[in-house]
Amino acid sequence: MQAESGQGPGGQRPKVLVIEDERDIRELVRVSLEGEGFASLEAEDGELGLALARRERPAAVILDLMLPGMSGLDVCRRLRSDPKTASLPVLMLTARSGEADKVVGLELGADDYVTKPFSPRELTARVKAILRRSYGKIGDSPREIYECGDLRIDFDTYEVYRDGERIDLSLREFELLSFFARHPNRVYDRGQLLELVWGPDTYVEPRTVDVHVRRLRRRVERNDALPQWIVTVRGVGYMFDERSLRGA
Ligand code: CA
Repeated sequence: MQAESGQGPGGQRPKVLVIEDERDIRELVRVSLEGEGFASLEAEDGELGLALARRERPAAVILDLMLPGMSGLDVCRRLRSDPKTASLPVLMLTARSGEADKVVGLELGADDYVTKPFSPRELTARVKAILRRSYGKIGDSPREIYECGDLRIDFDTYEVYRDGERIDLSLREFELLSFFARHPNRVYDRGQLLELVWGPDTYVEPRTVDVHVRRLRRRVERNDALPQWIVTVRGVGYMFDERSLRGA
């Protein structure tokens, strides 16, 4: 259809990658996305989808779970394990009967799911919601605040509060905490954190991550010897444990 129309005032439209083997559904999704100002990329299987995700750096992925060859769950797992795509928001398409898959998908780090058959309006609304959650500032979103348990992060003013008291953080500590808060309950290894928080072309030692995590813990944790929020997952890396924050 109109491949180049609908260019927003910002120039580039956010790209959404659609990994789905059924042509009719891909078409429906593409038309819905384009109607809402997105550009779409399409892949009919997992291999191509992973390649496009790495190369084209889309803003989000819509991933069908029932794919021939590599399953949607495997695609999700591989997206999460590659630093280049680890934080890419994923919206799963699931069959109504696939409850178990849905749970596994969310555990693997998918951000949300839509059950087939879905309405195009619901789908695009979900895409916008995960983009807002992941990037904060799509369009005219209101001021962004993270609040959970005793912790409050104001992303606009770079302020962090615990129990209402302001905590002073360095810029890097703030960025690290913000990253964790935006991607809770997922484990990231040092290489991924370097790539995603420090940036892809940073040449610092992985140990740097440990140093910053230690400092951050000293500032935000109640007892940094027994961290509850920024926890170490032995042999893997670090995870922001939102569940313990909520229960605090
Ligand atoms: Ca399918």
